[in-house]
Amino acid sequence: MTHPALVGARREPYWLDTDLRPPARSHLRGTERCDLAIIGGGFTGLWTAVLAKEADPDRDIVLIDAERVAGAATGRNGGFCDASLTHGEANGRARWPDEFETLQRLGLENLDAIEDTIRRYGIDCGFERTGEIDIATQPHQIDELREEVPGSDAIFLDAAGLRAKVESPTYLAGSWRPDSVAILDPAALAWGLARVAEALGVRIYEDTPALRLRSRGHGVDVRTPEGVVVTRRVAMATNAHRPLLQRLRWHIAPVYDYALMTEPLSDQQLATIGWEGREGLADVGNFFHYYRLTTDNRILWGGYDAIYHFGRRISPAYDHRAATYDVLAEHFFETYPTLTGLRFSHAWGGAIDASTRFCAFFGLARRGRVAYALGYTGLGVGASRFGAAVMLDLLDGRETERTALRMVRRRPGPFPPEPIAALGIWMTQWSLGRADRNGGRRNLWLRLLDALGLGFES
Ligand SMILES: Cc1cc2nc3c(=O)[nH]c(=O)nc-3n(C[C@H](O)[C@H](O)[C@H](O)COP(=O)(O)OP(=O)(O)OC[C@H]3O[C@@H](n4cnc5c(N)ncnc54)[C@H](O)[C@@H]3O)c2cc1C
Repeated sequence: MTHPALVGARREPYWLDTDLRPPARSHLRGTERCDLAIIGGGFTGLWTAVLAKEADPDRDIVLIDAERVAGAATGRNGGFCDASLTHGEANGRARWPDEFETLQRLGLENLDAIEDTIRRYGIDCGFERTGEIDIATQPHQIDELREEVPGSDAIFLDAAGLRAKVESPTYLAGSWRPDSVAILDPAALAWGLARVAEALGVRIYEDTPALRLRSRGHGVDVRTPEGVVVTRRVAMATNAHRPLLQRLRWHIAPVYDYALMTEPLSDQQLATIGWEGREGLADVGNFFHYYRLTTDNRILWGGYDAIYHFGRRISPAYDHRAATYDVLAEHFFETYPTLTGLRFSHAWGGAIDASTRFCAFFGLARRGRVAYALGYTGLGVGASRFGAAVMLDLLDGRETERTALRMVRRRPGPFPPEPIAALGIWMTQWSLGRADRNGGRRNLWLRLLDALGLGFES
């Protein structure tokens, strides 16, 4: 049954449903020649284009996207731009304890550089460096938040301290990172980056899928349905989509994540919950919600379910899931009962690119001519700029602080083939849900994954 607050909600990403969306660009016909071909017009591809042109204005660049710029995850996400390059501190510290301080500094520098680019080019994308509060809604999560604090930039908030900032009867404690997260309109940022890239001379084609790569001489031919890009180097920025490199087929598992957007809140409605700091918010269950205000005081409310389809399938048919929308709506009003009567204007979903280490990995193929940055596992709004910078370092053969990182040099292991992948993912999800209901206690399966470095904690 459809939740009453969802009746009439448009089934499309709120960020893309605007007159400010640029007109579609033409598709590639015939032959294009360039120094660098970028495959994918999401954040990773667009940052690659802008950074490459800023470093070397003479480099000739073509970017192609199978559909529209920002049409995939980049135009569908929550707009949390997090400094973390490692999908959170716990994951980063556990995997790369020796270099975690460096990763954290590079992440903050990356976020500062995103802010600087937005200001320098006047990209109007509602960038607000609000920070984020992670929220305990179950008693066992309070100590988790308290323990996390030493050594990080986080400030522990008890229930009273948290509820003085944002009011909900479900809130028990919070961990506030004031500086390391910004919120923004992701599609507006992506369109702004595309505008900048084109102004710097990048040629962008939409509706142009790369079908295959063929090494030729010192370069690569990128075949498209009606043409070819003849190029020296390729940057692959295709996220959850089927990788063009055979060796990466098993390294990505597409997982669907969903979000709702409310209508704008009146001043009175907003006053019932406070939220004057406008922080990004997320609860800390294994199945968690993330939520934030927009510039016109709507609430984006997303997360909770993470849906994997057998065989790594991705399809526009999976962009909507009525059962998830109902659950999300129900949880929204449990969190903010004073907003009863508020309606949702939009509901949508999109694929995130899970990797077995829960953050991006990087590498070179085809004798150094093709670079890739994939696997952000749902935290790529900020980290994609870092991924772009790494790809350019690798393609140019530059040794930098980034390429010296173990996190950059080593690729994670693949997911297993089907049906083991699907069974493993479903079993993990079932176990994580159970742990959420059982005071956080991890069963044998989750402890086994933890021991293998494959355990996921939000
Ligand atoms: C619902 C949802 C909420 C999220 N919330 C957040 C959040 O709040 N914060 C955060 O940090 N991250 C979030 N994420 C993840 C974030 O959106 C991604 O990590 C990020 O956008 C990845 O950017 P990208 O450029 O690598 O990939 P994408 O945006 O997916 O772009 C890849 C592009 O490649 C194109 N492509 C693929 N294959 C080909 C081909 N063969 N030829 C040509 N083009 C091709 C696609 O058409 C697509 O446009 C969320 C994701 C989803 C789905």
